[in-house]
Amino acid sequence: MKSALITGITGQDGAYLAKLLLSKGYKVFGFMARRSTDSSWRLKFLGIDKQVEMIEGDLTDLSSLIRAIQKSKASEVYNLGAQSFVATSWQQPILTAQATGVGVLNVLEAIRLTDPSIRFYQASTSEMFGLIQEPMQSETTPFYPRSPYGVAKLYGHWITVNYRESFDIFGCSGILFNHESPLRGIEFVTRKVTDAVARIKCGKQKELRLGNIDAKRDWGFAGDYVEAMWLMLQQDKPDDYVVATGKTTTVRDMCRIAFDYVGLNYEDYVVIDPKFYRPAEVEVLLGNPGKAKEKLGWVRKTSLEELMHMMVDADVERVQKEQYTEQLANAAATSR
Ligand code: NDP
Ligand code: GDP
Repeated sequence: MKSALITGITGQDGAYLAKLLLSKGYKVFGFMARRSTDSSWRLKFLGIDKQVEMIEGDLTDLSSLIRAIQKSKASEVYNLGAQSFVATSWQQPILTAQATGVGVLNVLEAIRLTDPSIRFYQASTSEMFGLIQEPMQSETTPFYPRSPYGVAKLYGHWITVNYRESFDIFGCSGILFNHESPLRGIEFVTRKVTDAVARIKCGKQKELRLGNIDAKRDWGFAGDYVEAMWLMLQQDKPDDYVVATGKTTTVRDMCRIAFDYVGLNYEDYVVIDPKFYRPAEVEVLLGNPGKAKEKLGWVRKTSLEELMHMMVDADVERVQKEQYTEQLANAAATSR
């Protein structure tokens, strides 16, 4: 049985990737940072929390990575752990550099010191393109990151390429464009929107405060994107791939899709709040998935409309459950 180790297993992609690898018969180990509260809600949502084995550690602690690799005997390591929110990277730039940048080096060093035949996936990002140098970004487009997060990820990307070239490590860098799901963190704009749509529809919220709604992103579904990660590590040779839909949409139009779905007009609820503007913005991203299609046979299956509808449905269900629990608590309180 093949073993895989996933850093960032409690995050959005970690949960979907764990599910995919389990379905392929892998023994899945999760490298999990200790938190004071339970952080396994996504694994529970997908019904796989009991099927993965957790190993405690932190990306900034090389010794914990070495121990995790030794214990898991993994033949594939997927490095998805990171401080992944762009806006936070201006508030905590040093932590971001350490976890999101040097963390990659720590994983690579742990592999080099324990078993250099391990195949390695690095979660790189379209944020490395930042101030775009070509209208459609591919593997050959020059990078120009615009946030401490983008800069840290660029280090992670190049150190992966360097370890491939220096030590023959089977390291792949997946340059993934934004991908979302019902498991996306609430701070990211799609989930912030679908959560608000659900709350407004259920009478629990009156408005939605957003920043730059003219920004454009190439949004896909996380469930589709983790398949590309796995495919990269099954090839004969390691390489870097852009994973994207090839379509870009404004935040404004993404809102329109989400609000329309429940019969509301986004213009009646969205309020622009400069608090959400960023010190340096990535105005537009649009990826060219041609190489992933040609070499990996990967194509996205889910459209933006399907994705937003899936996310709104999941958030409506969550809010309704919350309301039901509140009603039960109120009923219990009044009957006392
Ligand atoms: P999430 O933010 O949902 O998950 C990040 C994970 O990293 C969490 O499990 C988090 O644990 C863990 N983590 C954070 N810091 C550390 C640390 N110091 N040591 C160990 N684990 C840590 O991200 P996504 O799942 O959305 O993304 C997965 C990866 O892909 C990330 O690296 C992200 O930067 C990258 N990426 C994501 C894109 C997207 O659109 N989703 C696009 C391109 C790249 P905890 O929650 O306990 O802090
Ligand atoms: P990012 O591409 O990794 O930064 O993903 P986000 O989902 O955080 O942001 C996508 C785009 O939406 C960026 O251009 C943001 O400036 C824009 N945006 C506009 N309003 C908001 C908001 O309220 N929250 C977030 N997170 N992004 C917003």
